[in-house]
Amino acid sequence: MSRNPSPGWGMHALPRIARGEGSYLYDSAGRRYLDGSGGPAAFCIGHGNREVNAAISRQLEQVACGYRYLFTSEPMEELTGLLLGLCGSEYAHVVYSLSGSEAVESAMKVALQYWEASGHSSKKHFIARERSYHGNTLGALSVSGFLERRRPFEGSLLTVSFVSAANAYRPLGGLTEAALVSALANELDARIRTLGPERVAAFIFEPVVGAAGGVVPAPQGYAQAVRAVCDRHGVLMIADEVMSGSGRCGTWRALEHDGALADIMAIGKGLAGGYIPLAATIMRREIGDSIISGHGAILTGHTYSGHTAACAAGLAVQRIIERESLVSHVRRRGAMLLAELRAALGHIEEVGDVRGRGFFIGIELVRDRATREPFPAERGLSHAIGRRAFEDGLICYPCSGSVAGVCGDTLVVAPPFNASDSELSELIEKLTLALERTLAQG
Ligand code: PMP
Repeated sequence: MSRNPSPGWGMHALPRIARGEGSYLYDSAGRRYLDGSGGPAAFCIGHGNREVNAAISRQLEQVACGYRYLFTSEPMEELTGLLLGLCGSEYAHVVYSLSGSEAVESAMKVALQYWEASGHSSKKHFIARERSYHGNTLGALSVSGFLERRRPFEGSLLTVSFVSAANAYRPLGGLTEAALVSALANELDARIRTLGPERVAAFIFEPVVGAAGGVVPAPQGYAQAVRAVCDRHGVLMIADEVMSGSGRCGTWRALEHDGALADIMAIGKGLAGGYIPLAATIMRREIGDSIISGHGAILTGHTYSGHTAACAAGLAVQRIIERESLVSHVRRRGAMLLAELRAALGHIEEVGDVRGRGFFIGIELVRDRATREPFPAERGLSHAIGRRAFEDGLICYPCSGSVAGVCGDTLVVAPPFNASDSELSELIEKLTLALERTLAQG
């Protein structure tokens, strides 16, 4: 048997996946795992859903894919209508792709093309945030403030300006939440002025930081404050909602919670719930209209953009979410889950912060609760806990590097939207045990 090419979190041999049913996965040895993080916050309605599988099979029996330059399709048209309805009337154009990275890449290209098509061809520069992740293609990686993932590619990435992370638990200069928001908005404002607004195409950020921070919701008022700065200078605002969007945070658009609208947004992961790769870039009407009237078409996309069976999967997943009111369920149940996790983990001294929105919760571990000092990176604590939980039949998502890009340990909990109460209790129980046992080993 060949060696596994990518062992997860230092695991030497990965088990072989056999099947999935609801919130559980089973390996070929018959071991069962509760999917407490929906893999990487992707599998939003659980595994093996018969309705979704039937929709995909029906589509495959008709035709797998109508090539986008030759055909439109019913699943694509219906999904587009549904997405635009969910996003709100300001949005009018959707470009499909297969991964979050491509959706971000397209968002960046849409911003550049918009400025080019509307006679502002000097606007080429992007501003992004430290401690963020936007994807692994060169463009998306260029706007990612994720040191570990960037390091081997430095020198070949786009020149991007980074502003501070918006983290209320680790605030810039120790500021209070209210002072932090204006400090961060001022920093962005000053950066745009320094670069020259005529050179800046867009500011990109995650409304709730995922892998790079371990679920860091922007402080109250932040999104509206940066929206105002972008408006003042004629800079587009791109929301990367690949991980936090599509209902995960208890609103369909993550920024809905903040009462803010992005010009362009990227979604992926939960869009088709992992049944077939599917992602999308959604933009305000004027952006797409200007590009089309100036250049004839939005120049992004790939061979399989809008793949018919992938759209059928996305449509089936989104219909289930809508029919079962799963987004409002996630909002309500998520608030309870957060409180339950805080109560269950409160006795563990190393649990510094439990935070999040909806079914997107991060647990940050610290050496000292009062000073919030992180554990040394060499200890690899979050990954050790992730491995331990996995061995005990729970999947959670460990993150590292959230503090200064080097240390910082967080565990992400992001269960399927339709996980039952008893599954959520099992999640809390197994996670508590994995934390206690790993920490006890010193
Ligand atoms: N943006 C964000 C916020 C993400 O969390 C991710 C993936 N973790 C991506 C983009 C890239 O998505 P993908 O891995 O599907 O390319």
